Amino acid sequence: TAMISLRNIWVEYGDKIVLERVNLDIAERSFVSIVGPSGAGKSTLLRLLLGQEAPSRGQILLDGVPLKPECGPDRGVVFQRYSVFPHLDARHNVLFGLECAAAPLTGRLFGAARRAALEEADAMLAAVGLGDNGHVFPAQMSGGMQQRLAIAQALVKRPRILLLDEPFGALDPGIRGDMHRLITRLWREQALTIAMVTHDIEEAFALATRVLTLDKRRHDPHAPHRFGATAV
Ligand code: ADP
Ligand code: ADP
Repeated sequence: TAMISLRNIWVEYGDKIVLERVNLDIAERSFVSIVGPSGAGKSTLLRLLLGQEAPSRGQILLDGVPLKPECGPDRGVVFQRYSVFPHLDARHNVLFGLECAAAPLTGRLFGAARRAALEEADAMLAAVGLGDNGHVFPAQMSGGMQQRLAIAQALVKRPRILLLDEPFGALDPGIRGDMHRLITRLWREQALTIAMVTHDIEEAFALATRVLTLDKRRHDPHAPHRFGATAV
């Protein structure tokens, strides 16, 4: 059975229909790439999975239970840019990911809980290859290091689901291979279920267990949205 189920999902902004009758099941521990033209609704779909936005119609189930319209601690997200805070060094960026999940009301941990969280943050930094960069601020980091940091911040709270919106799209092609190896390793080690939006078809097929194509209704405005799914 599916971990995440989208049932007859519609997203409308005023009279503009962005997603129409989307049905999609995502299996636990799968790695799903979502490709499709600009404006097809890929980011909208990720926001739905994140719980940042509710569909106009339809239902999203997580483990068979309607998804709560909020960013739960079971979900982490990394965007193409600006996923981390510029005023916090690497260590405190990762700590923030934990504090937010552990103390959603205040966003702060104190005493022993904070010390334990800092140790977890350091371990997570090491896991993404930033072990020696705890005191470095994002502005002093390369694009690749910033994305490693964003991944650490998203994963430190041990979410089950990781949502990636063009995570490597702004990086030099030369370092994308390293990032691909990193995300593949973390996917296995942390038993993650990943949904990744990408424009890079090669990347989509290289990383994912399943590639979904989100169509835009360019030629027939009355046709329903269709997903093409390819198992690899
Ligand atoms: P993609 O990620 O595939 O490029 P998006 O999900 O970002 O597509 O956007 C799909 C369409 O929905 C676009 O035409 C976009 O302009 C529109 N859209 C997204 N969010 C809103 C919003 N809050 N209000 C109105 N239109 C929106
Ligand atoms: P873009 O500039 O994003 O490439 P187009 O000019 O091709 O957009 O499309 C016009 C509008 O149709 C866009 O605002 C887009 O969000 C909207 N659109 C795209 N896909 C759908 C869809 N499946 N259903 C309804 N509207 C859509």
